[in-house]
Amino acid sequence: MRVAIIGAGLAGLSVAFEVRQLVPDATIDVFEATDRIGGKLRTVAFNDGPTDMGAEAFLAIRSDALEFFEQLGIADRVVHGSGLSSLVYSEGALHDLPQGQIMGVPASSESVRALVSAETCALIDAEATAAPIEWQVGGDMSLGELVTSRFGQEITDRLVSALLGGVYSCLAEDLGVRATIPFLAAALDRLAESGEPVTLSAAVRGLLERRPKPSIKSVFGAFEGGYATLYEALAEQSGADIHIDTFVTSLQKYLQDYDRVLVATPAPTAAVLFKDVCPEASVELKQVQLASSVVVGLKFDSDAGLPEHSGVLVAADATDVKAKAFTFSSKKWPHLGARGGALVRVSFGRFGDDSALRLDEDELVDIALDDLQTVTGFDGRAAGVSEIFVQPWYGGLPRFSETHLDTVARVREALADIEHVEVAGAWADGVGVPNVIAGARAAARRLVSDS
Ligand SMILES: Cc1cc2nc3c(=O)[nH]c(=O)nc-3n(C[C@H](O)[C@H](O)[C@H](O)COP(=O)(O)OP(=O)(O)OC[C@H]3O[C@@H](n4cnc5c(N)ncnc54)[C@H](O)[C@@H]3O)c2cc1C
Repeated sequence: MRVAIIGAGLAGLSVAFEVRQLVPDATIDVFEATDRIGGKLRTVAFNDGPTDMGAEAFLAIRSDALEFFEQLGIADRVVHGSGLSSLVYSEGALHDLPQGQIMGVPASSESVRALVSAETCALIDAEATAAPIEWQVGGDMSLGELVTSRFGQEITDRLVSALLGGVYSCLAEDLGVRATIPFLAAALDRLAESGEPVTLSAAVRGLLERRPKPSIKSVFGAFEGGYATLYEALAEQSGADIHIDTFVTSLQKYLQDYDRVLVATPAPTAAVLFKDVCPEASVELKQVQLASSVVVGLKFDSDAGLPEHSGVLVAADATDVKAKAFTFSSKKWPHLGARGGALVRVSFGRFGDDSALRLDEDELVDIALDDLQTVTGFDGRAAGVSEIFVQPWYGGLPRFSETHLDTVARVREALADIEHVEVAGAWADGVGVPNVIAGARAAARRLVSDS
């Protein structure tokens, strides 16, 4: 069997590996537009060791991902986070990230009093008895609109957008509830189905009551040698021929030359690729918008004065800094802390605001250092900047809007008519590394199912 895979990001490489397991004698060719593999996973050689400048963590409570790493023989290189907590920067001050919330949505005002006004607290506490939410079971709506309409704009800006902005590079207003917090949508579904009043406080309270206490200090895992450990193992063990610098513009040739074709590119590129082959899917894929961001990696000689936390999330209503998040990598990850000094990642950019990507690199680094000092008091210049790496991520993440899941369903429906062609990737399966791997493996199984 001859298999062509377009895109050598995590999805494409996971498909290649899985196809090799299922059809050991398959000929597998992977075509990649850029001069490197890994896509949004990128490990850069800093002077004192490999350092991730794209994704840097995965949810280590996902046993399927851990089993997969075991199968790949790289489980012994998985490391865990320090368990240090995050801070929120709002109104010119640092606050502890409140407990008792689900992705920033609280069940009561108790945990958020230090972060929001008395008016907002009153709004939260009155929500349980306000007119219920008009929630459609199985449907979706804007997360920002839902939270603001129930708890006020401050909760949306200072908690929900701050938390989700880090994961999705979007404000809560640009994201769907089910598309990003499916368990919250399911809790709202349950309330609606049971005939109880549908309120955010009731849904969040129910989730908090059922939330299992994590048995590990940190729910996050990473690789000691960075994500290169994963993408290099996948590439090598897939035994695929990987053709870099190969920008695919049409699927026609691949459909003629191969028995199976899998597209693992971001959605807008997939839209172009399917234009002639499946116009219905192409039209739907065009609906998926992308959010751009940029990561500035900074290595300092000393970490004296850097807060003893894993990082800082910036409230969306903060106007005195441009950065949206700071990860104190050397505090968050003991293996990075052991290198000495301080390693900090400063992230910029959200959907609809790619102004940071248009700045000159030196200007952006200056802003990163200034913002770090404004937020934490840590004077990076005085601490000694020994290394800098600026990584722009143009269209880094798909926007998981309130219509996203329907769009994906329509793409899949349209593609169901085309034999021996599959899709995989963050837009189709979810942004998290475990989601992308699980979706890619399932796509590989479907791809070769009748072989
Ligand atoms: C800054 C940032 C931080 C993140 N942090 C985390 C994190 O900590 N934890 C986590 O779980 N997830 C994180 N993510 C998300 C995660 O990295 C991605 O969801 C995942 O890596 C996407 O993999 P993919 O294979 O679907 O897409 P991609 O990585 O985008 O791969 C697609 C590949 O297709 C190639 N391609 C595109 N067009 C063509 C073409 N025409 N022809 C040939 N090849 C083409 C691209 O060059 C690319 O290599 C982060 C993402 C970003 C941007």
